[in-house]
Amino acid sequence: MKEIQHYIREINDFPKKGVVYKDISPLLGNIEAMRLAVDKLIANLPHQNIDKVVGIESRGFFLATLLADRLNAGFVPIRKPGKLPYKTYQQKYDLEYGHDQLEIHQDAIQMGEKVLIHDDVLATGGTAEAAVKLVNRFDAAIVQLNFIIEIPFLNGREKIKKQQVFVLQD
Ligand code: AMP
Repeated sequence: MKEIQHYIREINDFPKKGVVYKDISPLLGNIEAMRLAVDKLIANLPHQNIDKVVGIESRGFFLATLLADRLNAGFVPIRKPGKLPYKTYQQKYDLEYGHDQLEIHQDAIQMGEKVLIHDDVLATGGTAEAAVKLVNRFDAAIVQLNFIIEIPFLNGREKIKKQQVFVLQD
């Protein structure tokens, strides 16, 4: 079995010039690699007493559901605006140019639940920070944020420095 990094493909200038896109498709396409990734994410949790795994749209959904299964926890989607059908909490966040918004269903998490947040890539940290703010609306306990890949020079950890963070390449 090769290292996880072997299954991350880098695509230059996608979706726009200057961006090196981290494509997790090869990882998703290989069940052994995907299981290895989930095993490592589980092994690096501070504990496994998790009630909800929150996945961030859209590539956070894939491993978040597998993690939820392994942890015997529920899965909660955080989605882009207008996708969730029930009442939502909303959080704006800044992009390089302009801003975007994430949403979560208002009944997705119960007060005091222990929550794991998962996404594929930690870049500037704006998305993860917005996800933390949304989960904090519930007065829940965030156990950890975990990611498959980090782009360290973008310094995303700074935005979530109060949280415990684990990245597969750590
Ligand atoms: P950020 O808010 O800048 O940390 O960006 C993280 C979000 O954008 C994640 O949901 C990623 O899926 C996506 N993303 C940002 N940069 C990349 C990249 N270079 N390759 C793949 N996905 C990325």
